[in-house]
Amino acid sequence: KKINSVIGRFAPSPTGPLHFGSLVAAVASYLAAKTQNNGKWFLRIEDVDTQREQPGASQSIIQTLESFGFAWDGDILFQSEQTERYQTALERISDHIYPCSCTRKYLQSLSDISTYGYLYPGICRNGINNPDIQNPSIRVKTNKQEICFQDLCQPHVIGQSIEQEIGDFILKRRDGLFAYQLAVVVDDAFQEINQVVRGSDILDNTPRQIFLQQLLGYPQLEYLHFPTAVTADGKKLSKQNHSPPVLTDNDSSDKKMESLLASLEFLGQNPPKRSNLESINDLWKWAFQHWDNDKIPKVMTKPTKFT
Ligand code: GLU
Repeated sequence: KKINSVIGRFAPSPTGPLHFGSLVAAVASYLAAKTQNNGKWFLRIEDVDTQREQPGASQSIIQTLESFGFAWDGDILFQSEQTERYQTALERISDHIYPCSCTRKYLQSLSDISTYGYLYPGICRNGINNPDIQNPSIRVKTNKQEICFQDLCQPHVIGQSIEQEIGDFILKRRDGLFAYQLAVVVDDAFQEINQVVRGSDILDNTPRQIFLQQLLGYPQLEYLHFPTAVTADGKKLSKQNHSPPVLTDNDSSDKKMESLLASLEFLGQNPPKRSNLESINDLWKWAFQHWDNDKIPKVMTKPTKFT
């Protein structure tokens, strides 16, 4: 199945400045969409979790993307401004959700984490365990049915029974914030995204997102999860691990060129040598002509000096 006109997106969480791992996601999602006929690419700031937001990070990410020369379609969507639509979606599936009083602390007190792992054992599914609790969280009822999909980059079909591997998961938190799983699904549908390109660190969230799409009657998307960039000692690159920003205020255009080259290299595209390129525009031109989803390595590539 090939979709006619790709609508992709880049959806960073503003928990810090853009690092190499997120630059790779931006480059891959951008080129996978924009090298197709009438391809569109949206920028969405996933600031739904205001607790994890770092002040100034949204602006810094947007500016960094601009200075690299990314050109997104339409307006930037901020999740913090979409809460009404998340609430509406929740109400549409009211038969499939329930209030839950279980705090993380309570769940941990029941048994050691090795028994349940992250699996929620459904304690409040048939009636809230502690009716006195203020502001219960909202969970969705899952089932045993296996959610399967073929990723465009992962070699095997991915399948997960959410009830057995994750359990009923949270859509709205006790602090009133909507969960990433709900927000991302509602926004992808709202923006008519049909192709999601992102790192394999998010791969195990995808079955939950497909499950919600089905529940809400949204179309299923095409997924491409490229192997996530890791640090030299094998850790995931993330803002939480204090990965260095890909650009700082006074970086030269040379640093930009090098980072962009490194991300294309990371994505298996064999970009030209630095010495054969005059400007970052040259490099984008090359990338638009040569981008090939199928060249993305299926397994983790070697860390580069940027990681
Ligand atoms: N906001 C997520 C992150 O920065 C990405 C979500 C997605 O691409 O679906 O890790």
